Amino acid sequence: MSVIKRFIAGAVCPRCGEMDCIRTFRDEEREYKECVRCDYEDSMRLDGEPDTPMEELETRVNQEKKPELEEGAQPLLFTANPGAGRKDH
Ligand SMILES: [Zn+2]
Repeated sequence: MSVIKRFIAGAVCPRCGEMDCIRTFRDEEREYKECVRCDYEDSMRLDGEPDTPMEELETRVNQEKKPELEEGAQPLLFTANPGAGRKDH
């Protein structure tokens, strides 16, 4: 599969500040940007989903509801067998 890299007209590299040095290309999942003057590289998902930073993931986990123990469940009653050990003749 050939990757087509295209320059973005007027794009300024956020790292080195040069104009017209940003190239963009994509694969199945992401669109990449790279600078040809420095080693700046960036990527974003094609489906628009933002890459979630770790903090956000943790928040999401914290908000997850914990399964609560069912209360009011009837306790099991263990009764000794009254007939045990009794001999009826
Ligand atoms: Zn650059």
